[in-house]
Amino acid sequence: VETKLPKVGTTIFSVMSQLALEHKAVNLGQGFPDFEPPEALRDAVSRAMAEGKNQYAPGIGIPKLREQIAIKTERLYGHRVSPDTEVTVTSGATEALFSAIAAVVRAGDEVIVFDPCYDSYEPAIELQGATAVHLPLTLPAFAIDWQRVREAITPRTRMILVNSPHNPSGAVLSRADLDELAAIVRNTSIVVLSDEVYEHIVFDGREHQSVLRHEELAARSIVVSSFGKTYHCTGWKVGYAVAPKALTAEFRKVHQYLTFCTFSPAQWAFAEFLDSSPEHYLELPAFYQAKRDRFRALLAPSRLTLLDVPGGYFQLVDYSAVRDVDDINFSEWLVREGGVAAIPLSPFYETAPDTRLVRLCFAKNDATMEAAAELLCKL
Ligand code: PMP
Ligand code: GLN
Repeated sequence: VETKLPKVGTTIFSVMSQLALEHKAVNLGQGFPDFEPPEALRDAVSRAMAEGKNQYAPGIGIPKLREQIAIKTERLYGHRVSPDTEVTVTSGATEALFSAIAAVVRAGDEVIVFDPCYDSYEPAIELQGATAVHLPLTLPAFAIDWQRVREAITPRTRMILVNSPHNPSGAVLSRADLDELAAIVRNTSIVVLSDEVYEHIVFDGREHQSVLRHEELAARSIVVSSFGKTYHCTGWKVGYAVAPKALTAEFRKVHQYLTFCTFSPAQWAFAEFLDSSPEHYLELPAFYQAKRDRFRALLAPSRLTLLDVPGGYFQLVDYSAVRDVDDINFSEWLVREGGVAAIPLSPFYETAPDTRLVRLCFAKNDATMEAAAELLCKL
């Protein structure tokens, strides 16, 4: 078969989870919690099934859930959206990202992405016959170099894709970053796609700078989030996209033929739980900050150097004091000999720099973190 995606192999997340299983390693690779979603939320899914909410939901999402998303968006970001014309429930953020790209990007277009970037972006762009233009984030803070962005804009630039809090680094965008972005896209037809799946996971008193806080950007952006990250249920695959009416209309043209609708029982459950328990997402920063701090304290005696983690649920570590090999080799060695699965950074790059960094997920119970740390401190 002539492949449409010659650069794509099996995603590193599947590869490392499989190796973790084979070697019975502690899995800090693929990003998922090893603890359960809130009991009331699980009960609500079961109840929805028992009550017969088992057939197709409305394609754009059940009204109650879209209303709750609109309420949350206004409460947190001061941005009022219409649940009917500006909110769409999707099968995870992955589907929302794909639908957004397919709806907006045409053959021959360019989409600016920032490396290291999440691995689903580029295949979605290439399937449209478009090109991902990779710009490196500047280390050690993984910051966007806005001058480079200005220089990379061409008449073909159709979209800029940002991700904050950032996977894999945890970097967060500031208000000044959003102002830079707004100035660059002003008077162009460039659409901003903002991946905010870790929107509730920001630390040390920071405020998540959603593009929805920025009226000028909100007017030209598709913002994507994921209930999997917020409610510890990555396997349910429910997310959503918020965008102005005209963009949402285009987005929904793709969404309705890609998946049509999303798992109904979970939609009823999220609608109920967002309404009854907004404290869950309000308490998430403290919940994950405690995990971050615990994990960092456990790793302090190790030979790993810990990078700062402003948000998200990943810790980047520099392993150069342990072994002088590339990150793929190190990750394979670590899962086999060290008993811990991590994610190398190079698969997140078009051209990886010669760094010695891997990503460890701290969305884990204390016992898991302790078991991993004991092994990592022996390296
Ligand atoms: N974007 C980023 C940055 C992610 O880390 C992930 C998954 N961890 C996704 C999108 C996909 O989210 P979902 O599982 O809801 O499809
Ligand atoms: N987003 C998760 C991560 O970064 C993985 C999701 C997946 O496996 N596709 O680890």
